[in-house]
Amino acid sequence: MRPRLCFLGTGNAVCMNGRGQAATWFEDASGALLLDCGPSFMAHANRFGVDLARLDAVAITHFHGDHLAGLPFLLMHFQGIDRRTRPLHLLGPAGLRRHLDALCALMYDGWGLPFELRVHEWDPAGPLAPWDDPRWVITPAAMRHKPESLGFRLQTAETVVAYSGDTVLCPELFALSRGADVLVVECTLPTPIVPIHIHARELVEALPDLHARRVAAIHTDDATAANAAAAGPDGQLPAGLFFPADGEVWEL
Ligand SMILES: [Zn+2]
Repeated sequence: MRPRLCFLGTGNAVCMNGRGQAATWFEDASGALLLDCGPSFMAHANRFGVDLARLDAVAITHFHGDHLAGLPFLLMHFQGIDRRTRPLHLLGPAGLRRHLDALCALMYDGWGLPFELRVHEWDPAGPLAPWDDPRWVITPAAMRHKPESLGFRLQTAETVVAYSGDTVLCPELFALSRGADVLVVECTLPTPIVPIHIHARELVEALPDLHARRVAAIHTDDATAANAAAAGPDGQLPAGLFFPADGEVWEL
């Protein structure tokens, strides 16, 4: 199997135009990694047919609900449907285990997972050493959105994928992106509205300096995609920039 990305949720918290919340699925011959797990994840994973049994690790960028709140339902699936027994790796900012435990306890009683959750947390202010699996290297970088926000750079023998999570344009994002085969980047806003996200025109203008072979804009909606096109040459998206739909698959 060639490495590939499946965009399971290209929307943001409010799911405009029916887009699901943050969930990007990476897989290759060795297994699968989920980048963020919004509350619509299980619906879209089933709808678009990813094989959840292949999932090895989930990487969470920050503690907003549209990136985190699908996790209890995923764990419930592994507990009651898949009857998973092998460990699941969970990667993210410091406090992830505590927040997940609180969220699960609030939602349902009687957890007791039949498999081990191996949690790896990074403090964005501390050393950000890579998580080194024999197959993949996942390197976090501090992003600018919430104090705990991280982006991730995934390197395998075959490809490099950079994933911004939520952020503004910042030097850390340009460093994360440089040389990636694909940058999956948030583009939340049609125009500048709140200063914690990227908007359409600035993403188009920043594109040459991101130095990624392809850029997938997610955490978005159709109006933002239209504004990005309007900012491009001849009213089209510039070469290399795409707004994938939910369920779209990219071979890498
Ligand atoms: Zn956020």
